[in-house]
Amino acid sequence: MDKKTVLIVEDEKNIVDILRFNLQREGYETLEAYDGETGLRLAMEKNPDILLLDVMLPKLNGFDVCRTLRERGNNLPVLILTAREEEADKVLGLEIGADDYITKPFSMRELMARVKANIRRTSMKMDAAASTMDTGSGLVVNTETYQVTKGGKVVDLTQREYELLTFLASHPGKVYSRIDLMEQVWNYGYVGDDVRTVDVTVRRLREKIEDDPASPAYILTRRGVGYYFADQA
Ligand code: CA
Repeated sequence: MDKKTVLIVEDEKNIVDILRFNLQREGYETLEAYDGETGLRLAMEKNPDILLLDVMLPKLNGFDVCRTLRERGNNLPVLILTAREEEADKVLGLEIGADDYITKPFSMRELMARVKANIRRTSMKMDAAASTMDTGSGLVVNTETYQVTKGGKVVDLTQREYELLTFLASHPGKVYSRIDLMEQVWNYGYVGDDVRTVDVTVRRLREKIEDDPASPAYILTRRGVGYYFADQA
């Protein structure tokens, strides 16, 4: 039995204590850091299965930790812990490559659901059948190596961007609402304001794969309905 490891990067000791207690009770191993620098180092060295990342941290803030990880090509799932009054943090966090966020104060039940959903996607990804998905216009997804190339060049995607792309691309032409995508790609059985997460992730994905993100050729919008992958093969 392989225990999953959760890295907690949070400077409020009481929150770390509660998280550690609940995560360990659910069968996770935990690692802890109380400042951003240590958190970044542990994320790179210990290769955890998920990172719970506070924003306001000593030495290096959560956004810088996340941004640095992505710049170094580390795509581990990152769940940002934001304070309620910092609404803008949610969107900023997603734009710099976090996979998800949860607002403090959060219920432990919700947090556990998010942790599980984000880790489960990783495990499913590992079990995926080996194959290559060629969209027919230079964009190629290798589901064995999880590598996406465009015109032969590697496109560096976060896990969530990769999952959104492969999900849409495997059903070309079919339009999915943001709620559908939350359920299918994010694995959430409930939704709220969180559908905005889908928009931000779509925008980020377009910036990486489209020649002109303002006039996309792959991930298209059906106004008032949702998103779909161009049926161009
Ligand atoms: Ca803090």
